[in-house]
Amino acid sequence: MRFLPALTALSLTTLGVAVAAPPASAGGGAAALGPTASGYGGAIATVDPTATAVGLDVLRHGGNAVDAAIAAAATLGVTEPFSAGIGGGGFFVYYDAKRRSVSTIDGRETGPATMTEKYFIDPADGLPYDFAEARVSGLSVGVPGTLATWEAAARKWGTRSLAAGLRPAADVASRGFPVDATFRQQVTDNAAAFGQFDSTREIYLPGGAPPAVGTTLRNPDLADTYRLIARKGTGEFYRGAIADDLVSTVQDPPVADVPTGTWAYPIRPGELTKADLARYQLRFPSPTRSDYENLTVYGMNTPSSGGIAVSEALNIIEKGLPASATATDKLHYYLEASALAFADRNRHVGAYTSQQVVKQLVSDSWAAKRACQIDPAKALVKPVPPGDLTASGCTPAAVGGPTEQGQSTTNLTVADRWGNIVEYTFTIEQTGGNAMVVPGRGFLLNNELTDFNFAPTQGTAADPNLPGPGKRPRSSMSPTIVLKDGKPFLALGSPGGATIITTVLQVLLNRVELGMTLPEAMAAPRASQRNSAGIQAEAAFRTLHGPELIARGHTFGPDVAELGAATAIEFTRRGGYIASAEPTRRGGGAAAVVHPKR
Ligand code: GLU
Repeated sequence: MRFLPALTALSLTTLGVAVAAPPASAGGGAAALGPTASGYGGAIATVDPTATAVGLDVLRHGGNAVDAAIAAAATLGVTEPFSAGIGGGGFFVYYDAKRRSVSTIDGRETGPATMTEKYFIDPADGLPYDFAEARVSGLSVGVPGTLATWEAAARKWGTRSLAAGLRPAADVASRGFPVDATFRQQVTDNAAAFGQFDSTREIYLPGGAPPAVGTTLRNPDLADTYRLIARKGTGEFYRGAIADDLVSTVQDPPVADVPTGTWAYPIRPGELTKADLARYQLRFPSPTRSDYENLTVYGMNTPSSGGIAVSEALNIIEKGLPASATATDKLHYYLEASALAFADRNRHVGAYTSQQVVKQLVSDSWAAKRACQIDPAKALVKPVPPGDLTASGCTPAAVGGPTEQGQSTTNLTVADRWGNIVEYTFTIEQTGGNAMVVPGRGFLLNNELTDFNFAPTQGTAADPNLPGPGKRPRSSMSPTIVLKDGKPFLALGSPGGATIITTVLQVLLNRVELGMTLPEAMAAPRASQRNSAGIQAEAAFRTLHGPELIARGHTFGPDVAELGAATAIEFTRRGGYIASAEPTRRGGGAAAVVHPKR
């Protein structure tokens, strides 16, 4: 979200790209930040100008990429509270320039110890809960991993404490920030759910209605929570007074005596306990890794399916794409490879997928067994079946899988003057999470456990993403760092539920295969084929590419307003950065560099 006058639009008509020109200087206050900035000395891109300005300030004052990422992320918890915050989880990917190595933190939410496969089955009728009923409940809340992630990142790779990272965000929460149209819309969309809880409506429905655009929104409770954690440490959150409040919110949802608006479902309590919070553990899995021509692509391992699916689809494109491919051929392969990768992800990827299977799915030999199914002239009938991991040739048919889409989450990308990079996607799942602000603490809880499949989806085969005790739901978050000839080339990520995978893929494809600059690759209209009958596309994509793709047998579902809200940084050969956020999606993002000139 951002407050900016309209900027000059350059148009790259053949690919439907309209890119906002960067502002003359990206170095001013938050309001001066546009979606693109290039220069030196460090760079940052987030969806929000206040968060970008806070991160930029850290970079300017000698902080490294991790310090800036934590400060920006904590600020996003204030200004983008419906997408992410300390009530949720995420995946942090870090490139260490000195060691030339990529590490990750899995800060995914975790289910309660009592969680069973039938967790989202209504005992009254034996049927899965409706999504909305499961979402706005205590049941959907997993143990949040976000604070633990920030703390571990600060300790392992940062130069400043977590406390230092929380302070600027606490100041933003006390001082307040301007409500823009995106923020107001997100409250409006959630008004019925938010209106059920005093703690939520007090902050986000002042006077019983969504806050007006241009007003200042303050969250003193969240400021106090950040300051308390800064003083006393994360133990306060996982074992102390905040843990008490979080657990009572889950077990006894703070439903208002007289709610604002009506909610069609009972608001069910959840099972999370203080013991679940106290035993929360981060994981530090190796990144997924694959090659695409001279690029090395690092992504997030399980419990995210993001790294696996991005790598598998890229490998399939690399294997299948003819040397003389046209732009339409490339889009055709992008859509077909996405569908095949989604079929495999749905069948084979969950929190407990073995690393042997992960390696197989991101391998060139697996891509060859899948790419052989693509007909260059004709789209496959969707859903396509998943591949058989034991097959020796082109894999045979079985049963297709489901598709899903979320709209919440946020992503940020930071690079520092030393060449370290942070690519971080974090979320509370749906926009507005489970709609419950922990009373007196100012933050919304996640509904991440609804990322589990409520009932088996794979026919007679095992479903890898059913709930289980202490299990993490499968994610699609795809924070990605790409090296070219061994040196940083591109870091990118996006929100968007399962469409995250295709957005990351499409931006990469636009940049690497379709000859676009990074800002063009970000702005170009998007489409997502997640192994369902109709491609989900922005209207501009369908208008531009629909006729040629339909001629090849592709079908389009109803248009969607927008896909993703990505951020990215490209590393130029001369040691510079191109920081890039969305020009318009989700209200437009904010990019900045430390020195616009060398
Ligand atoms: N909960 C989703 C995931 O982990 C992200 C939600 C979204 O981006 O909308 O994949």
